[in-house]
Amino acid sequence: MLFADLPVLLGGHLLQAAAEPAAAVRHLVLDSRRAGPPAEALFVALRGPNHDGHRYLPQAYAQGVRLFVVAENAALPGGLAAYPGAGFVAVASPLGALQALAAAHRRQFAGPVWAITGSNGKTIVKEWLAQLLGPDEVICRSPRSYNSQVGVPLSVWELSPERHTLGLFEAGISEMDEMAKLAAIIQPTEGVFTTLGTAHDAGFASEAEKLREKLRLFEGPQFRRLYYCADQGPVREAVAALALPGFGWTRHDAPGAALRFRVAPAGPGRTAVRARAGTLGPRADFVLPFADEPSVENALHGLAVLLARGVAPAEIQRRLARLQPVAMRLEMKQGRHDSYLLDDTYNNDLAGLALALAALGRQARPGRRTLILSDVLESGLTGPALYARVGALLPAHGVTRLVGIGPEISSQLSVINEQLTDANERLIVNNEPTENRPLITDNYSLLTEFYPSTEAFLAQLNPADFAHETILVKGARRFGFERIVVALQAQQHGTVLEVNLDALSHNLQHFRQQLRPGTKLMVMVKAFAYGAGSYEVASLLEFQRADYLAVAYADEGIALREAGIGLPIMVMNPSSDAFELLRRHRLEPEIYSFELLHEYLATFLATFPATDAPIPSFTNPPIHIKLDTGMRRLGFEEADVPALGALLRQHRARLPVAGIMTHLAAADDPAHDDFTRQQLAAFGRMAGALEEALGRPVLKHALNSAGIRRFPEAQLDMVRLGIGLYGVDASGLDANALRPVSTLRTTISQIKTLPAGATVGYGRRGTATAAARRIATLAIGYADGYDRRFSSGAGVVLVHGQRAPVVGSVAMDMCMVDVTDIPAARAGDVAVVFGAELPLPMLAARIGTIAYELLTNVSERVKRVFVTE
Ligand SMILES: *Cc1c(COP(=O)(O)O)cnc(C)c1O
Repeated sequence: MLFADLPVLLGGHLLQAAAEPAAAVRHLVLDSRRAGPPAEALFVALRGPNHDGHRYLPQAYAQGVRLFVVAENAALPGGLAAYPGAGFVAVASPLGALQALAAAHRRQFAGPVWAITGSNGKTIVKEWLAQLLGPDEVICRSPRSYNSQVGVPLSVWELSPERHTLGLFEAGISEMDEMAKLAAIIQPTEGVFTTLGTAHDAGFASEAEKLREKLRLFEGPQFRRLYYCADQGPVREAVAALALPGFGWTRHDAPGAALRFRVAPAGPGRTAVRARAGTLGPRADFVLPFADEPSVENALHGLAVLLARGVAPAEIQRRLARLQPVAMRLEMKQGRHDSYLLDDTYNNDLAGLALALAALGRQARPGRRTLILSDVLESGLTGPALYARVGALLPAHGVTRLVGIGPEISSQLSVINEQLTDANERLIVNNEPTENRPLITDNYSLLTEFYPSTEAFLAQLNPADFAHETILVKGARRFGFERIVVALQAQQHGTVLEVNLDALSHNLQHFRQQLRPGTKLMVMVKAFAYGAGSYEVASLLEFQRADYLAVAYADEGIALREAGIGLPIMVMNPSSDAFELLRRHRLEPEIYSFELLHEYLATFLATFPATDAPIPSFTNPPIHIKLDTGMRRLGFEEADVPALGALLRQHRARLPVAGIMTHLAAADDPAHDDFTRQQLAAFGRMAGALEEALGRPVLKHALNSAGIRRFPEAQLDMVRLGIGLYGVDASGLDANALRPVSTLRTTISQIKTLPAGATVGYGRRGTATAAARRIATLAIGYADGYDRRFSSGAGVVLVHGQRAPVVGSVAMDMCMVDVTDIPAARAGDVAVVFGAELPLPMLAARIGTIAYELLTNVSERVKRVFVTE
């Protein structure tokens, strides 16, 4: 889309022309703190009740953004003169402009676009559809629950005609007339209506009006099919009255449904479903890996979609069995008195409660399972009907103690108890023990207590009343349950790797600013994203529009796909036995030898015998050719190029090559710059010859983090960012520009005062000193990734901001530090092992290694906590 076209497209007028007349708009920026690459970015200045985007124009301009949409009547900070070279379009409504841009972008996409709406379960149904359709499609979906008037246009903007085969977006409204706007942006061709509930009721005159408004999403001329549960009478009737192309499913023989399901419990945590098309079609049987009602209902939407698409039943079952519960902001925390907290204090509807309880049920810890629960909101049910369902969930997930907080839940005590008796009887009949759930026997009982408000609960709280138990704290936002979490949370216990996602975005942004226009960005998420946690980092990168990800092994790539990551992924060490899996998961192998290339061709020909039938692109991911220009590790050598070129040429129609790459041996070291230039020159020759053989250009890439900064002229078509993203300056040019991403923290378990002459730890390597000392034992050892080479003073940690040296040998789970000079140190205090104040490169140098090793050594048993500011 060209900036010059915006005045007409948006019905606005040009305030100032862009210096670059043919400037294209590729990225949308609403918040200067979360900006992507500045080249081709358009800043849209939105206004909200507590926010005015116009205030951030100077920051966005300083970051290099040159294209702006602003409100007609807005005062621009500093006046237009403060933005030389920048293009400005003024419009009546910047939000309307954002929506119009997204709608125009949507029209460029010819593939199917799905829209999900309803009162509950939108995000879960969307995520599950992405998991269920993932094997057949390359999906662009809304991140998290971006379903609002702003979230929808941002999500739809990500749709790429080149990359995606399907769009999947959720739409949520809270007022009249909002849906028509979302429908105009999404322009759905298929849709799912989840459930009709009472959420956000305030904005509508009646249930009927709300339903009618929601269904407007599906009224466009392009719309082909609406999946819905026909057991919801009002929905069924409205679909018929509006003559929407409905595809209903029913569990209770609702009239006119296209699919009939019979559902029965199939043992703990499982549900059997018998499906039949209409009343006469053939039957097929499935098992869902869930037993709670909201999950079953959400999964049935997915099942209906797969059946309607004609996916074979055996394949459907495979996909259903792999459905992953959708994590909705649930966080695990160490509680006081040996308890464990599941912190879910963001919202509380029935579907979310069922998922959180399922997470509680999966905890393997012994002891009581406690649920601290607020009134349940936004569930489409009220009073006894609602709390009967809540009550039924409790025994099924092994809850043995319930603390109800809120006026509603307190008044429904008897309803909950009634359900418990009932459910208990059913469970006794059905009691098989499972690995995830304790055996519930006839002595199952539930302790209950109720409080009218969070304040009333806190006023009487004695944290020692919650000991040795696993506690799910589940409350709607307005109950402020985070106060309960703080009261019950252990003071920072054990070892935690804190990963700052904002720092990660900042570093990404920094490197993007170093890229020449048009250079693509591949990000290395190998080795558990350099220890930071692959899925979380990958999903942030997907959101921030990295072009490519790379991992070392097939397993890592498959795990990302199964978690719903859709970006192209390169696998650097593919083994030939994994080729089939790579193909199935759209993972792109790096091919570094003739042997590997022949093996790849062989498995390829076995799957697609040489005919002229076109190969669907999603089953035939392209490959990357690795050239060895001096690393002497993996890759084809210069002498191999003619034969390699001939082979690639011979198979070029059916074996697509995405890229040609090499890896630099010493991009960070000026002493070897001549060698690096030789590597780059060799790469230029070799890649050029291969491109010539292929007869078309492909992505050429050579630079790692240090190279991006030190050899910008060699950025070519793409660069491969690694350590720099994680905040380590490999080039020596970014000392102040990068933010450390990871902080490893532990706690002091105990402090001892040792008399003069005492030795410390294994092998008595902590030698005796003449004076008495205070020695603190830390809850971290080499099994956590704290290197044993830090023994005997090589390592230091920070306690109260002061350095404390390691004493004696680092043991498997603990180590000792000298805190004689830090009199304030106490058991329970935090010790920083590395982080902003204790930089990794300094620590690495003390034991003769590099920051990469320290980062990737943090063991997976160390809990990762992801924070944003
Ligand atoms: C790990 C890796 C990178 C990234 O290197 P950094 O120094 O972490 O930026 C780039 N290319 C290849 C082939 C790699 O294995």
